[in-house]
Amino acid sequence: MPVFVNTVIQKNYTSGIENNNTPITILTSSVSPQEVTLHIFLKTTTIKTIQKMSATKGYAAYNATDNLAPFDFNRREVGPHDVQFEILYCGVCHSDLHQVHNEWGGTVYPIVPGHEIVGKVTAVGAHVRKFAVGDLAGVGCLVDSCQECDNCEKGLEQFCRNGFTGTYNGKDKISGGVTYGGYSNQIVVDEKFVLKVSDKLPLANVAPLLCAGITTYSPLRHWKVGKGHKVAVVGLGGLGHMAVKLAASFGAEVTMLSTSPGKEQDARHLGAHHFALTSNEEQVKELTGKFDFIIDTVSAEHNYNVYLGMLNTDGVMICVGAPPTPSLISAFSLIGGRKSLAGSLIGGIAETQEMLDYCAEHNITSDVEVIEMAYIDEAYKRMLKGDVKYRFVIDMATL
Ligand SMILES: [Zn+2]
Ligand SMILES: [Zn+2]
Repeated sequence: MPVFVNTVIQKNYTSGIENNNTPITILTSSVSPQEVTLHIFLKTTTIKTIQKMSATKGYAAYNATDNLAPFDFNRREVGPHDVQFEILYCGVCHSDLHQVHNEWGGTVYPIVPGHEIVGKVTAVGAHVRKFAVGDLAGVGCLVDSCQECDNCEKGLEQFCRNGFTGTYNGKDKISGGVTYGGYSNQIVVDEKFVLKVSDKLPLANVAPLLCAGITTYSPLRHWKVGKGHKVAVVGLGGLGHMAVKLAASFGAEVTMLSTSPGKEQDARHLGAHHFALTSNEEQVKELTGKFDFIIDTVSAEHNYNVYLGMLNTDGVMICVGAPPTPSLISAFSLIGGRKSLAGSLIGGIAETQEMLDYCAEHNITSDVEVIEMAYIDEAYKRMLKGDVKYRFVIDMATL
């Protein structure tokens, strides 16, 4: 039953592609989205067939300033290699906030954020081997990459030479529109980018592992952090609390560095062996040359040189937080002691699976505050004040 799209809609569709937006929702208004096959005449006079869209309920920001609001859209129907799952929980990451407010530029509205996604599989394509209906599944920060470049071949999809597809606000190579994230009731993703989730751990607490967990696990593994190493963690938020838990579980001696004395008890409770106040000059002096590694999770402007001074000979400071403005770094902070300043971005798919398996085996999860969908704007406000221990997670049953 082909439906021929009228000129007005055709115009919207082509302009939608140019704007990197997805107007697919308007195309299905006259017929059931489950049954229709749409033939859309594009400018080039080629015919593109979009089959069996899958209606989805979500929550979106329509612009940079207003509160988030309900948003209905369509995901692609399950393809032969796709896994579809009902989203049960979605973590709230600082990236959501930055992109909703267009602080990194390039946000396409409406934007459906969320890349700490866990749920239960509801359908699988004919060629899917790893998943069956009813399995628990997760999706993190990426849903696609070229899978051909050297980095993809090495399992470093996050550094894909041709750019990975972000779980939200990414260019969707399959539908031609923009990707929509986990603040929604279901998602369809190629099985290569879907993670297996153990049923041993509480699901809401597992969700933040998909971004905060892998962001801290990956550098700790890459630099082989473990027994005998002195590690400092800067910043006790979503990333910082995972860095403390993971570094401690790898056998390192962990020091929490913070500007607020009120965090000492929490840091120790999470597994930190020591605590130091970086607002106290005496304590900072005592830390000179002390650490083999520093994991810097702070995404607000701060002075890197102070922390570089705390590195031991051959020490490495790894940035996983991304302040919006560049920092001044003195070469003198690095050359004395042959120190390195490095960065790390999430992790590849295989490593993300390794991290989830490790956490299931060692009973490691995120400390979370479960919220209702409608609480999201209040949650953003509290995140900006650092008022969360340590991750908000949306219960999608409240969508
Ligand atoms: Zn994130
Ligand atoms: Zn690639």
